[in-house]
Amino acid sequence: MSDMINIKINGMDFAAPKGSTILEAARLANITIPTLCFLKEINAIGACRICVVEANEGRGFRTVAACVYPITEGMEIRTNTPAIIESRKKTLELILSNHDRKCLSCVRSKNCELQALANDLGIEFEGKYDGETQNYDIDYSAAHMYRDNNKCILCRRCVAVCEKTQGIGVIGANERGFKTHISSAFEMGLGDTSCVSCGQCINVCPTGALSEKDFTSEIIAAIADPSKKVVVQTAPSVRAGLGECFGMPIGTNVEGKMVAALRRLGFDCVFDTNFTADLTILEEGTELIERVKNGGKLPMITSCSPGWVKYCEHYYPDCIDNLSSCKSPQQMFGAVLKTYYAEKMGWDPKDIVSVSIMPCTAKKFEMGRDDQNAAGVADIDYAITTRELGRMIDRAGINFADLPEEKFDDPLGIFSGAGLIFGATGGVMEAALRFAVEELTGEKLNGEKLDFKEVRGTEGVKEASYNVNGLEIKVAVASGLANAKKIMDKVRSGEADYTFVEIMACPGGCVNGGGQPIVPASVRNFTDVRSLRAKALYDQDAAMELRKSQDNPAVKALYDEYLEKPGSHKAHEILHTSYVARKINKDFD
Ligand code: SF4
Ligand code: SF4
Ligand code: SF4
Repeated sequence: MSDMINIKINGMDFAAPKGSTILEAARLANITIPTLCFLKEINAIGACRICVVEANEGRGFRTVAACVYPITEGMEIRTNTPAIIESRKKTLELILSNHDRKCLSCVRSKNCELQALANDLGIEFEGKYDGETQNYDIDYSAAHMYRDNNKCILCRRCVAVCEKTQGIGVIGANERGFKTHISSAFEMGLGDTSCVSCGQCINVCPTGALSEKDFTSEIIAAIADPSKKVVVQTAPSVRAGLGECFGMPIGTNVEGKMVAALRRLGFDCVFDTNFTADLTILEEGTELIERVKNGGKLPMITSCSPGWVKYCEHYYPDCIDNLSSCKSPQQMFGAVLKTYYAEKMGWDPKDIVSVSIMPCTAKKFEMGRDDQNAAGVADIDYAITTRELGRMIDRAGINFADLPEEKFDDPLGIFSGAGLIFGATGGVMEAALRFAVEELTGEKLNGEKLDFKEVRGTEGVKEASYNVNGLEIKVAVASGLANAKKIMDKVRSGEADYTFVEIMACPGGCVNGGGQPIVPASVRNFTDVRSLRAKALYDQDAAMELRKSQDNPAVKALYDEYLEKPGSHKAHEILHTSYVARKINKDFD
């Protein structure tokens, strides 16, 4: 029996795979049916009714929701009749009647699914059904983001991603009917819940209801202050996402143009977090080998992802000792900048403004954690997202696409391919393996031996085992916190005997972080965004000569001139930290 189903769309014959929904089949026929609440594999509730079409299965045409309705043999589908367009318009006008329509000042204007849909459908009089409206206070309680329910359309995409993808569930629908709104249990501010600041809810929101807290004005003011040295670092994944803010294809590596843009924005030094990703490998790898040799707590689990660290503190506080004590690369960078580099340049750390560009919203929480002030002042002053950088570049009138390719400044802009691939799930693990295998065997790794392909790819959980000089190293990699839970339950129960575990809070790792450019559902539902962005990093790594963190000459100089050796007392004071057990605060029941 054929696996294809024959259908008619708008009078034309097509075939689509069995099991497809009308939405999927239409897409294969190059017809985009508009959606609002639908998110593939996450939120298929057919609730918003924007995707309605007419379908006939032999009993006359009926109106159905294309996102959930399966195709059947001989089905006739009409996606564009006057009645369907009118129905979608009416639905949208009703949504807009209780919407705070302030597009001129909205962070999502030009990238808002609601706004785009209103334009596409030709909404003529947006206030047609205006009547009583809700008026919600904006929730600014969390360190990383705010919620403006006046712009929420109750699609519940945020609720689904928090519950299903992240396994957290700190948000849901409160009240009923006209009073329904998305919030936390007992109307707690988000900052009072056990939200982990991952920002995945922001990435799926079709409107301006959810957004990161924006620090761009503060940074522009600091750059204009001649008494300040404003130094910027960029995380690996930013170069794989930033181009999307300027209409470039997903997965375009814009490293050189990004550096050029940062110089034109006026930063005094343009450095790369990859430098401290390399440093992390030396510190974390040394810590791992110490634990293995001296019977320390295993598995050791990475601590680069602040969303994951916060999750561990709330949901697995009994496993805190498994976390590496290394600060994240962002924080290590700020610490090295305000100690070693400040001393080298004769700068007072108090005069340095340390800015990081991150694919992540949890970094905004992380920079305010205790014990992140190696020089007696905060390691990081402002952590901003890829999106915020895109806005700064726009605001400055910089024509990004036409910029030349420029290089990072020395020495904190020198990095290896191992540091670069930190941005993809499995990247930290691969970088650590490139270090640990050399360290334990004393043999130099080169060529294909540098590729640990078992830990690559976007699957949520990956496991591998390596025999290194007779020592069995069992590793696991998880991304997305619902996947992390699967690993952590085994670690907690003692069922798993891993040596080293990498966990990233965001599915696919930082390339898909909560601060990356927002990809509308119409693209996201049909494109493997995280693989395309990860490929940009792996391709760059493969083309580099310097591919191992331990070979980074600037990191070697940092140890020679300042930190002595990996794991030294001084390195611990500057580059390591501690964690706290936190409560779970989320329940809706
Ligand atoms: S959420 Fe969209 S439609 Fe609403 S104000 Fe913002 S840009 Fe306009
Ligand atoms: S930031 Fe993450 S944990 Fe917090 S509400 Fe959003 S999805 Fe849930
Ligand atoms: S906050 Fe955004 S994602 Fe959540 S229900 Fe409202 S519109 Fe949808």
